[in-house]
Amino acid sequence: MQILANYINGLHTPPRNGRYLDNFEPATGKMYGQIPDSDADDVQAAVDAAKAAFPAWSNTALESRHDILRAIADGIMERLDELAEAESRDSGKTISTARNIDIPRAALNFKFFATALLHFGSESYQMPGTALSYTLRQPLGVVGCISPWNLPLYLFTWKIAPALAAGNCVIGKPSEVTPLTAALLGEICQKAGLPPGVLNIVHGNGPRAGASLVAHPEVKAISFTGSTRAGAEIARVAAPMFKKLSLELGGKNPNLIFADCHYERMLETTVRSSFNNQGQICLCGSRIYVEKSIYERFRADFVAQVQALKVGDPSHPGSRLGAVVSQAHFEKVKSYIQLAQEEGGKILCGGKSLDLGGELSGGWYLEPTVIEGLSIHCRSNQEEIFGPVVTLQPFDTEAEALALANGTPYGLSATLWTNDLARVHRLTQSLQAGIVWVNTWMLRDLRTPFGGVKHSGIGREGGWDALRFFTEPKNVTYATDFD
Ligand code: NAD
Repeated sequence: MQILANYINGLHTPPRNGRYLDNFEPATGKMYGQIPDSDADDVQAAVDAAKAAFPAWSNTALESRHDILRAIADGIMERLDELAEAESRDSGKTISTARNIDIPRAALNFKFFATALLHFGSESYQMPGTALSYTLRQPLGVVGCISPWNLPLYLFTWKIAPALAAGNCVIGKPSEVTPLTAALLGEICQKAGLPPGVLNIVHGNGPRAGASLVAHPEVKAISFTGSTRAGAEIARVAAPMFKKLSLELGGKNPNLIFADCHYERMLETTVRSSFNNQGQICLCGSRIYVEKSIYERFRADFVAQVQALKVGDPSHPGSRLGAVVSQAHFEKVKSYIQLAQEEGGKILCGGKSLDLGGELSGGWYLEPTVIEGLSIHCRSNQEEIFGPVVTLQPFDTEAEALALANGTPYGLSATLWTNDLARVHRLTQSLQAGIVWVNTWMLRDLRTPFGGVKHSGIGREGGWDALRFFTEPKNVTYATDFD
């Protein structure tokens, strides 16, 4: 059985209270390890280490910082197979998703911000003959990075890499549901030469370890990705302490499909955007709206392709969907499928859990599920399900499609399928979302701002936005009107 430790001041450290949480394997439903059930004492030790490391790290030459972050990226790729296996085992995602998407992207996050830190600048303004003003961009000090279970190492590093690049010392709190690759990251950072205390990793649950980090007065900023519920709780605690906050929260993303789109490309992409990672990507399109003239055709083709998706052992390269992440999440998604039927929805395919037999018979497997006949107002179309479940609905006009797309409290992303350029410009202006994809999905350019509006959060990650978040601007005005 695997027993993980916290990573504090460069040392693998057991929780001070001696308590542990069980860690389960979604593929089998069996417990296979334990992680520290850390509390405020462990967070305090991490803050002490981070504070002690900060003066030297924030003054480290940019080239040296770059070299260390690049070495971390290389270290991740050197252990690609091991990390992919750990990620798949811990989260239930397929090994091919972990190997081809999650782990390479974690390495790329470090590579990207290693380079970005060399080019990051700030503004200056002149008042001729009067003054020169310039902006210092200073690291904040000790910052907290809290991440969810759906893209464990990918999202953990998406926060940690820019925080370190900007010269901060970090306390990372990975999801208690998927702690394994974060624990391995500690080893990789150590080998890459990251000084002790610069990155500390504290395991544990949200209400204890996470909440202690958020409430700690010496943690200057919280970068959080997770549910809207937890984001609201974090804001409630952190806002009166005037911490910087970046909140990447839930979504209920619409997919608008017009008859003039490139049909084959749309169909293939819509299957992916619905069910990749068992629908557990914050960017998955869970509400699919299709122009009436192609609705029947789309429904038939889409359902046929979804029925052909193979749900199987996540460690098997032939599996297209693996297991959902936990028993609690499995029960939640099933309850929404039940609710959708009670609300009048008709299941076109899927809708049931699967027993894959043998070793896998206790695993948390769900059929990819397509439902139609639900109004925008019902809970199944308003609340985030975050599983392999999508709803279909036809629309007549562009105005109706827009109203449906904007008709939830969320606003993370939207996908638009059309070849009408004027329509693209009209709709991208009016869609209430932080990210709009046109004729593609989840194509990421790491320089672009990433984040949501409405209940999907505040702040933006990526590119300069992330480096600006992790630094404080200080304006200096220097008089130039005397000799
Ligand atoms: P969650 O909110 O339950 O947990 C996320 C993290 O926050 C975990 O590490 C958890 O331990 C911690 N946490 C929970 N309560 C806390 C508290 N009060 N104080 C401090 N930390 C706390 O979310 P989850 O179930 O792990 O992840 C799924 C959610 O994440 C979905 O809602 C999904 O949409 C969202 N998500 C959003 C994005 C995005 O970019 N917007 C990306 C991925 C996932």
